Amino acid sequence: MTSRPTRSVYTFGAGEAEGSATDKALLGGKGAGLAEMTRLGLPVPPGFTITTEVCTEFYQIGEKLPQTLEGEMRTALSKVEKIIGAKFGDPNNPLLVSVRSGARASMPGMMDTILNLGLNDTTVQGLISRTGDARFAYDSYRRFVAMYGDVVLGMKPESKHAPDPFEVVLLKKKRDRGVDLDSDLDAESLKALVAEQKALIRELTPHEFPDDPWEQLLGACVAVFRSWNNTRAQTYRMLNNIPIEWGTAVNVQAMVFGNMGDDSATGVAFTRDPNTGENRFFGEYLVNAQGEDVVAGIRTPMPINASGGADPTSTLQHLMPVVYKELDAVREKLEKHYRDMQDIEFTIQKGKLWLLQTRNAKRTAAAAAKIAVDMVREGMIDQKTAIMRLEPQQIDQLLHPMLDPNAPRTVIGKGLPASPGAATGRVVFNADDAEARGRRGERVLLVRTETSPEDVHGMHFAKGIITSRGGMTSHAAVVARGMGRPCVVGCGEMIIDSQLKSIQARGHRIREDDLLTIDGVTGEVMVGEVATIQAGGNKEFDELMKWVDGIRRLKVRTNADTPADAQTARNFGAEGIGLCRTEHMFFDAQRILAMREMILADSEAGRRAALAKILPMQRGDFEGIFKAMAGFPVTIRLLDPPLHEFLPKTDEEIRIVAKALNRAPEVVSAKNAALHEFNPMLGLRGCRLGLVHPEIYEMQTRAIVEAAIAVKKAGITVIPEIMIPLIATDEELLRLRKLVESTATKIEEEAGVKIDYRVGTMIELPRAALLADRIAKHADFFSFGTNDLTQMTYGLSRDDAGSFLPGYVEKGIMPFEPFAVLDQDGVGALMIIAAERGRKEKPGLKLGICGEHGGEPSSVEFCHRIGLDYVSCSPFRVPIARLAAAQAMLREQS
Ligand code: ADP
Ligand code: MG
Ligand code: MG
Repeated sequence: MTSRPTRSVYTFGAGEAEGSATDKALLGGKGAGLAEMTRLGLPVPPGFTITTEVCTEFYQIGEKLPQTLEGEMRTALSKVEKIIGAKFGDPNNPLLVSVRSGARASMPGMMDTILNLGLNDTTVQGLISRTGDARFAYDSYRRFVAMYGDVVLGMKPESKHAPDPFEVVLLKKKRDRGVDLDSDLDAESLKALVAEQKALIRELTPHEFPDDPWEQLLGACVAVFRSWNNTRAQTYRMLNNIPIEWGTAVNVQAMVFGNMGDDSATGVAFTRDPNTGENRFFGEYLVNAQGEDVVAGIRTPMPINASGGADPTSTLQHLMPVVYKELDAVREKLEKHYRDMQDIEFTIQKGKLWLLQTRNAKRTAAAAAKIAVDMVREGMIDQKTAIMRLEPQQIDQLLHPMLDPNAPRTVIGKGLPASPGAATGRVVFNADDAEARGRRGERVLLVRTETSPEDVHGMHFAKGIITSRGGMTSHAAVVARGMGRPCVVGCGEMIIDSQLKSIQARGHRIREDDLLTIDGVTGEVMVGEVATIQAGGNKEFDELMKWVDGIRRLKVRTNADTPADAQTARNFGAEGIGLCRTEHMFFDAQRILAMREMILADSEAGRRAALAKILPMQRGDFEGIFKAMAGFPVTIRLLDPPLHEFLPKTDEEIRIVAKALNRAPEVVSAKNAALHEFNPMLGLRGCRLGLVHPEIYEMQTRAIVEAAIAVKKAGITVIPEIMIPLIATDEELLRLRKLVESTATKIEEEAGVKIDYRVGTMIELPRAALLADRIAKHADFFSFGTNDLTQMTYGLSRDDAGSFLPGYVEKGIMPFEPFAVLDQDGVGALMIIAAERGRKEKPGLKLGICGEHGGEPSSVEFCHRIGLDYVSCSPFRVPIARLAAAQAMLREQS
């Protein structure tokens, strides 16, 4: 148990704040932002923040508020009362507050917020007499009762997909009073609605709505702390690697009202365009609305200005020019201060601007690159900061395909382009289906009228998201951008019925399972699948990657088996091949027959004859790869998998192969049986194959060296690196090195050309790591094969782990899947030993990694730290690895 923090509450208001931007861990992002904005002299309603430490304590003492908290809250609240000139619970002049969650990392809409707290049948009268506006007062009251009922008292819809009961009574009231859906009820009706809502709470929960404001306040604090552990927050934390220990803060803040008529409004704005990164003020607002109306997407908000091509007469700039100017000044001030794009919440109460939140805005990868580079040019940040700002995982988005502009398409709707990229998938209508089917590897599009935080798990597993309501700052838009999912929002022409699972749009009827394509750049929704092309270059990103390459020490190679892959990787900036697997070269229909002939042969002579047929094909492959990688090293791994993988499996296949090779089917079956292994991954594979059947490695060496000679003769620099897999002992390597060298020398002499080649090994067995000094005697380089090394270190088969490993991670038994993220403690320890012992024997021994981990940012950073020379990863991850390598270098320097 941690010791009792000295202080639980930090106040802000009237230009002074006890906390600041540097207190994010303690006050949460929202609390720190409110404190900092207050210090900057911006108009922020006064309030106080209860620290994240209290949240931790709350859970430690059995989900209770610490005893001393209420006293501190009372002192802080009296400060707020003084500033506002109203008293909490005062029947004549009541102070109302919001109670807002706010964790260290931003979790948009994940936890709960309550507005207008402090209202009851008495104080509502005070609010009426103070404002002279009964409609407004009762509107605030009914919002409060609904939020309180939901968040604190646990009012939930009957079933997961049933409508919110408060929403149902609201709509019924509108119908009964003959008010249309977009218009407001009068004071009288709202008053009646409040009473009905309270009755609903009585009926559907074991609770009574509390009238006492302090009881309301403490109940709300408990609910916010509890919301830190609700399912949607848990999902979000898991998807974003946010530790549970961080806790949330609670912000209690004087209310300001955007629902006081046509000179009032509420909105959300970004200091730049979060989609493209363009330096223009971007935002949305709703007149006469409160709080979450904008994000919830119930009414579709209007753009704050016409910079995006909107109708100028409906913009905030046009309708409230003075406030807009003030807001624009805030934009500049906040950006200068934070030196990063901000996402701000504001409310206008009777023509007066109030700020309610600022945070570093979520953005697409393209926007991130543009903003980082622009800010360097604007002199706001330096190049190093710009590099640190990009998330390596996120740049993936920039490398993916977009719709072919010339491909035919049938557009059935056009909404707002909320998050770029193209996606095709089968339509599903709820998040659970999206998750279930996405997990099975199906491509699905999640279609909703609007999304809420409950849908996040489904959005994660969907290829793309469509909503019929909501704007560019709606929940769907913000979350999709953060996740990098293509998304179209506010596509009003699509009539979505999620109960009946159907969509009507431009005369088409779409049902569950139908294929749709969305274009997150244009906002178009199309039937069927539309062809894609490779994304074009991104100027700013290319510029930034130049800076990246100037900083990193670690080289980045690629894993590629074909000239085409090698070329793609070159285009992404690969500096060589770290792993060229040769087995794929045998699987081609023509080749596999020769391979099978080789395996089935009874004598060495028979095997040699079969291999001779494969030789020219392999040589051709290598020539292509060497040409694509001109001037860069190419590491080729000799044959690794167990031979039985190449043999026919079914009776039918056996018959065909037997016929083609002119052998009896029984012979083939018998060979199959003879090659059967209980544990093929630990059987006759890797270098063991080369020792048992030297003619295979001999043929491969010949193919490599002959290809190198041909390419060299064409005037291209070749640097072949021959890599022997699965070495456990130095003797194995010694023998195979001799085999490779004697073969190569023979060919060089025949051709009269010398090739500058190297022979090295993979380190993928714990024994090899531990005895790396002995192995290094015969190796020119080591390449860590961390897929096998992980498998062998954990005693965990990659092919069998799928049934339980994901559960391990969900239950927290393991922090991550070790096949995706390098286990630095265990596997990493072996790597450190191997690197040290290898280099002690042979200083300057070249070290690299070629497992899947070579493109995973945290693993790349580890490789940098332990002094590897290069990482190697699949072509599409090359830019990610380059960026991660530069960030590792910068972190080391700082
Ligand atoms: P979230 O983290 O989901 O955005 P917030 O705590 O920011 O939750 O609040 C939800 C909405 O309520 C926001 O639009 C915010 O601007 C509004 N809001 C919060 N506190 C106040 C307040 N004191 N006065 C007016 N509006 C508020
Ligand atoms: Mg919220
Ligand atoms: Mg907010």
